[in-house]
Amino acid sequence: GKTVAIIGSGVAGLACAIRLAKKGHIVTVFEANSYPGGKLTEIKLGDYRFDAGPSLFTLPEEVEALYELHGLDAKAYFDYKKLHSTCKYFYPDGTEINAAADIEAFKEEVHQKTGEPKKNIEKALRKSSFLYEFLAPLFMHKSLHKLSTWVSKNAFRSYGKLSKFNFNRSMHQVNQARFENEKVVQLFDRYATYNGSNPYQAPGTMNIIPHLEFGIGAYFPTKGMHDITQSLYQLALKVGVKFHFNTSVSKITLHEGKAKGIVTKYGFHKTDRIVSNMDIVGTYERLLKGERKPTKLINQPKSSSALIFYWGIKKDFQQLDLHNIFFSNDYEKEFEHIFNKGSVYEDPTVYINITSTQKPDDAPEGCQNWFTMINVPNNQGQDWDEVIKEARKNILKKLSTQLGEDIEPLIEVEDILDPIKIEVRTSSTQGALYGNSSNNKYAAFLRHPNFSSRIKGLYFCGGSVHPGGGIPLCLLSAKIVADNFE
Ligand code: FAD
Repeated sequence: GKTVAIIGSGVAGLACAIRLAKKGHIVTVFEANSYPGGKLTEIKLGDYRFDAGPSLFTLPEEVEALYELHGLDAKAYFDYKKLHSTCKYFYPDGTEINAAADIEAFKEEVHQKTGEPKKNIEKALRKSSFLYEFLAPLFMHKSLHKLSTWVSKNAFRSYGKLSKFNFNRSMHQVNQARFENEKVVQLFDRYATYNGSNPYQAPGTMNIIPHLEFGIGAYFPTKGMHDITQSLYQLALKVGVKFHFNTSVSKITLHEGKAKGIVTKYGFHKTDRIVSNMDIVGTYERLLKGERKPTKLINQPKSSSALIFYWGIKKDFQQLDLHNIFFSNDYEKEFEHIFNKGSVYEDPTVYINITSTQKPDDAPEGCQNWFTMINVPNNQGQDWDEVIKEARKNILKKLSTQLGEDIEPLIEVEDILDPIKIEVRTSSTQGALYGNSSNNKYAAFLRHPNFSSRIKGLYFCGGSVHPGGGIPLCLLSAKIVADNFE
């Protein structure tokens, strides 16, 4: 086996460590923070617990695969359940849509509440499943930078269907043409935010995303989202991976075009191979200073960021579920602010994630733990203190109106996560949640590959490289590294 240094213990770094250990390599992870998990961590405020970052869990089999690789029964180490309701949607006019995971029930509910013909919903979900069937094997599971991907059976069967992939129209244009009711358009447009993109710019191909929820399913880890990285950290230890926390890597050392080692506060650490799970921009700008950069790839526009209020709420709102969306009165304007103006719209779409609906010990009895989030532009030097003050006021006003109760007096404890904190804590460029945005049809081809073609022995995994951000794609980036590891 080779010695491998992994820079960062985000979900992709952990998965990569587990996969490379299976291949017989001697793996050491260097992590700047005092804890593993990166964005996928938790916070505790008084008697409340919150998952700090991701809240939606899809494709659990990509977590299980890591246990199975080592001959272990995943269920014994990592437990999760399928959600019966994917999300509750609240519209400004008082309409509520409870999106059941069961497609028949979902179609019926949407039809009842909006009059949208069921066949339109049926068609949209069928299209989403078609996109997934043809595009996932190519764009999610393989490197786009290996000829073998493009001459594979999966590639050839897709070439004849190119015109059906909706590369040339925006997600919104496709949804607008498909549905009669504006509320349904908005519901389906929202899937663009699952990777920090703008439905008015992202290609219709992104309508692949609803299939994850309706075709494959939305899940919740029984011990909370944080258990994903906690369990994988335990698995990594079990299979012999070594960890150094509070150990930031400041340099990747090269010799004759080959990766030779890394530098930390403890000095030089020699290694045969390096995998960077650090954001790709930071990897080039901070660890590979003076080396030639793939400027075009690393300068692509970044995804949106988030502003989150973690609120301990001393009331149990029975009408709220695990995932709740309170839609903006003008979706187009909201995205115009986030992606073109770099500001926050006065009536933002508010997402509330309440894990205590699934895991009661996350909040005291009769209370709820509200992870209250709005999408915001990535950090371009805005006056965030001002943005936060304004947004907090607008969010409270909106929720108080929609829930018919003054929310502010119910807040017992509070903490805030903003784009600057996301950037500082995980080295994510501009505090983007998902690396590059998918706001143009070439985005899939403009992510950095999972290896370096110029520097031998250097690999990349995580949300800022191929195939993209979000837990499932990060896990697949680790798989692609391991599959192409030499
Ligand atoms: P990261 O989590 O970015 O971690 C990178 C790690 O590397 C960090 O621990 C960092 O400290 C370390 N590091 C960086 N530089 C160095 C260095 N020089 N030396 C040592 N260590 C270093 N995804 C979903 O699937 N569903 C969701 O619902 C969802 N919601 C989200 C909500 C929020 C608020 C956020 C922030 C993200 C969300 N995401 C969601 C995205 C998801 O969290 C990320 O795509 C994923 O967790 C990124 O994992 P990663 O492996 O790229 O590493």
